[in-house]
Amino acid sequence: MKVLVINCGSSSLKYQVLDMPSEKLICKGLVEKIGIPGSMLTHTKIGLDEKFVLQSEMPDHTTAIGHVLDALLDPEHGVAKSLDEIGAVGHRILHGGDKFTASCLVDEKCKDAIRACIPLGPLHNPANLMGIEACEKLMPGKPQVAVFDTAFHQTMPPEAYMYALPYEYYKKYAVRKYGFHGTSHRYVSQKAAEMLGKDLKDIKLISCHLGNGASICAIKDGKCYDTSMGLTPLEGLIMGTRCGDIDPAAIPFIAEKEGMNFKDVDTMMNKKSGMLGISGVSSDFRDVETAADEGNERAKLALDMFVHRVKSYIGSYAAEMDGVDAIIFTAGLGENGKTTRAAICKDMDFFGIELDPEKNDVRGKQCFLNTDASRVKILLIPTNEELMIAKDTYEIVTK
Ligand code: AMP
Repeated sequence: MKVLVINCGSSSLKYQVLDMPSEKLICKGLVEKIGIPGSMLTHTKIGLDEKFVLQSEMPDHTTAIGHVLDALLDPEHGVAKSLDEIGAVGHRILHGGDKFTASCLVDEKCKDAIRACIPLGPLHNPANLMGIEACEKLMPGKPQVAVFDTAFHQTMPPEAYMYALPYEYYKKYAVRKYGFHGTSHRYVSQKAAEMLGKDLKDIKLISCHLGNGASICAIKDGKCYDTSMGLTPLEGLIMGTRCGDIDPAAIPFIAEKEGMNFKDVDTMMNKKSGMLGISGVSSDFRDVETAADEGNERAKLALDMFVHRVKSYIGSYAAEMDGVDAIIFTAGLGENGKTTRAAICKDMDFFGIELDPEKNDVRGKQCFLNTDASRVKILLIPTNEELMIAKDTYEIVTK
């Protein structure tokens, strides 16, 4: 069965078609600038060198998905003769609140619940819904599956997900930790169990998803036990442009001094902070590393702060789970940034974490990075959220 995986952002859309259950990637693509001038679709059929590029105004997600479906049926670049060959569509959905503990078939109830979570995911959930509704319009009756970024984290115990704010805000507004990147943490944890030759239920893992957005997850008995992102993706690690954990009292303090309103502060913490805000160079780790190598002190400080925060979460999660069997590095920086991986694992031997510098000289390949003596295994596992979405979709529609 061919499964179309769609990840709708507010002005962009990524997609892949995978053959299931063989898990073979058939094509992938990206639509940029939906609803703004200069919309463009770039489509790549696996095995064909030449890309298919379409520049045409796409005022909304329905028009964009229409062009994606046309690309899938293109005589040269397409992957199907008719849309009947697409068995199902899987959608990445940002926020499922506490309503979804797993992926599910899209129906009216599911859509209402995604809608109800819009206040918690104001940028992504509306776009995710638009993607679902566009597919309903363009492929009526096609089974669709919703895969939530938050679902994997729903197993956290209350002591991990509650904030020590007045309880009424939890009851009235569902203010609590939800966590994100769940599809990635779930995928790499399953791969880790395979690599270790153990049952997921018998291992304790710390999964470090280090990309432009970054989060850490403590996984015990195959379930999320704690994670660093919170009510929104802002909490936790230092990210490309997000500040991560800060003293919340800094917010009214700065707002008052600078005459900022809530929206200004939110933009400052989400878009102008993190690696960009500290280094003043870039949100991209490669640029920050280059600047640090050239002697830029603020770039060096940003990198040191990032590593410091990751280490403190690793220590805290090992303590919370009463031990750890393996640490996983994944996502852009986790898979490619050998210097950062080495800095994170430095001086962790008292924990039984010992990185092998030679094995660490690797990028983007599933492998072990630890020395033979290391009690805790260190794993590099390239993440594949689209494959996880396709797997869930295939399982749900064939069940
Ligand atoms: P992602 O959001 O998962 O795509 O990750 C993007 C981040 O990974 C960016 O900040 C990149 O700078 C970083 N990254 C990608 N390749 C490398 C590399 N070779 N060394 C260091 N960082 C990298």
